[in-house]
Amino acid sequence: MTDHYDLVVIGAGPAGEKGAAQAAYFGKRVCVVERAPRPGGAAVNSGTIPSKTLRETALHFSQLRQRGLYGVDVHVQPNITIADFMYRERAVVDAEWQLIGENLARHHVTVVQGVATIVDPHAVEVTRYGEEPHRLSAEVILVATGSHPLRPPDFPFDDELGGGVVGCEYAAIFAALGVRVTLVNERSRLLSQLDHEASEALRSDLTRRLAVQVLLDAQATEVRVEGDDKKVGVVRLRDGTELVADCVLVSLGREGATRGLGLAEAGVRINERGFILVDEHYRTTVPSIIAAGDVVGFPALASTSMEQARVAVCHAFDLKYKQRLANVIPYGVWTIPEIACVGESEDSARQKGLNFEIGKASYRLNARGQIIGDLDGFVKLVFHREDQRLLGCTIVGETACELIHVAAAVLAFEGTIDYFIQSVFNYPTLGDAYKYAAYDGLQRLARRVTNTAGLPRVE
Ligand SMILES: Cc1cc2nc3c(=O)[nH]c(=O)nc-3n(C[C@H](O)[C@H](O)[C@H](O)COP(=O)(O)OP(=O)(O)OC[C@H]3O[C@@H](n4cnc5c(N)ncnc54)[C@H](O)[C@@H]3O)c2cc1C
Repeated sequence: MTDHYDLVVIGAGPAGEKGAAQAAYFGKRVCVVERAPRPGGAAVNSGTIPSKTLRETALHFSQLRQRGLYGVDVHVQPNITIADFMYRERAVVDAEWQLIGENLARHHVTVVQGVATIVDPHAVEVTRYGEEPHRLSAEVILVATGSHPLRPPDFPFDDELGGGVVGCEYAAIFAALGVRVTLVNERSRLLSQLDHEASEALRSDLTRRLAVQVLLDAQATEVRVEGDDKKVGVVRLRDGTELVADCVLVSLGREGATRGLGLAEAGVRINERGFILVDEHYRTTVPSIIAAGDVVGFPALASTSMEQARVAVCHAFDLKYKQRLANVIPYGVWTIPEIACVGESEDSARQKGLNFEIGKASYRLNARGQIIGDLDGFVKLVFHREDQRLLGCTIVGETACELIHVAAAVLAFEGTIDYFIQSVFNYPTLGDAYKYAAYDGLQRLARRVTNTAGLPRVE
């Protein structure tokens, strides 16, 4: 027997869940097929939510935020166990499973557990261990199968050797708990896509505050396990140095989870990293098959995956709703310190030859920064020199990933830094730093005018 739906979604990660709910909201009959026992994909089960919860847990147990603030000495709490460390993560993941289940149920989405394979452009076969394959037909199929960590074939991965996690985030989490961490980075800068001051702030905090050994311009050429019980990891670097560790965590990027899905047979084109080729409406090379989320590659974030799926579904069913992915995308990095950016950085603006100025405000000069003891954070604005239109923003420090949305909104509405000058910000808040970054920007502009008039430069 074949069950017929308007939309069959493969995968119940962020893209699958939100794409399904979007179509169902507009009255479509939707079925989601998920091979894992629980929904949520990498975002809930292994990536985003666990790592962000573990970061909070590490900050709590290490009391890193409070160190030096109250005149009493605080350290990592002694005798904490792995169970203590994982307690909150389990609780949050449980709550997320529940919320996703409720969302799909509220939208009357049918959820089928099993492995889906596309058998023709309008049909999916679902297999479950010990059961006969079950066929679902659909007007549209949304592929939202996500991605896997990239695993170099000559690295001996096993259960002890994790792969594909965000190296800097995990380095910070473990270091906060007192684990001695060495971070091997191929490039000369950590997170080289970021503003150079943000990258440097991260390197400096990791080394100075968390005692992480950061090796830049270093490439791991070999990883092997040694010892009688195969419990020691040895990482060999290009220059011959060998690092010995209890655990080696490899995070070298990801590849599309498309193997065995039947895509090529159905006519869907994928690239050499397994990512599905799509157009700006997330249509694949087969008209009835759309794809969204990590499986289509960059930027491979939970935030964008959800939106891509909504846009994909709206186009597929000609729903006059979400027509495109927003062109302003904020990025968050939950290292210690937290980092967020949107639009141009000082570096990207320079590389593009834009006529720009920057404005910067330190958390040190901000009352809220003083209260919480984050004195190294900063807000840095990049704006057009002629009309003061905001071009981008980078924030380092507490709540950077929340604060960045203010800049994202100004960018989306093509606003100028005058927005920050004229606005009233709650006081004392870190948000108030936007105003002082804008003032600083205006002062830099004024100094530039003064300098061109031949007067002495004032810095
Ligand atoms: C350590 C880490 C930290 C991260 N932190 C962040 C962050 O802070 N912010 C952020 O925005 N993003 C973050 N991400 C990225 C985020 O997790 C992914 O972008 C997001 O999960 C992608 O969603 P998705 O729905 O495309 O795929 P996934 O979440 O991977 O879900 C795909 C689903 O498809 C299912 N599936 C696959 N094949 C089949 C099949 N044949 N049949 C049935 N089901 C199938 C899988 O079981 C899975 O449930 C992080 C990722 C990692 C690894």
